[in-house]
Amino acid sequence: MIKIKNLNGECQQCGGAIEFRAETTGMTADCPHCGQPTELRLAGPPESAAPEQTKAIIYTMLALAILVGGLVVTLVVLKRAERLSDRHREALAQTNAPASFPPANPFAPSGFRASPVVLANSESGGVIYAVGKVYNLTSRQRFGVAVELELLDGHGDKVGDAKDYQALLEPNAEWQFRALVVAKNAVAAKVVAIREVL
Ligand SMILES: [Zn+2]
Repeated sequence: MIKIKNLNGECQQCGGAIEFRAETTGMTADCPHCGQPTELRLAGPPESAAPEQTKAIIYTMLALAILVGGLVVTLVVLKRAERLSDRHREALAQTNAPASFPPANPFAPSGFRASPVVLANSESGGVIYAVGKVYNLTSRQRFGVAVELELLDGHGDKVGDAKDYQALLEPNAEWQFRALVVAKNAVAAKVVAIREVL
């Protein structure tokens, strides 16, 4: 009597235990558990090691994916922040545009600049001066600098003139002028000319 030896294997689809006759090894049969076709072969150590390796590979790839994903997200966020700050800077530049470009300096061709002028009472009282600053925009000494002002009344009409004089204005230096105002109805003044009279 021949004893039929049954072998133990497992389904390649579901891992379920399959018992099969030795002579059917290598053949394909439908799994009794999942019904899918599977090759009949012995369940051995190589097969049981494989899932561990696969698991390790999957975890490594997952970790890499998370790492790369995190990097991409970080880069995207950084880029967006950069773009936002660019837009912010542009917006700022636009808001500041009028302030960063001072009104045209009519005295630039002669290398001077004048500040706005205010009318101030002298310390002793009774006398009014037009006070402001003249800037030497050049890197050379300026000799005999005269500033001429126009005095204006409440309507902005010219009611007189005022003058001051400085013998020497150093390179890139400023000079605070003080021009006597004799027109009693003057409420404002502006610089209309800066000249070297020497
Ligand atoms: Zn199966």
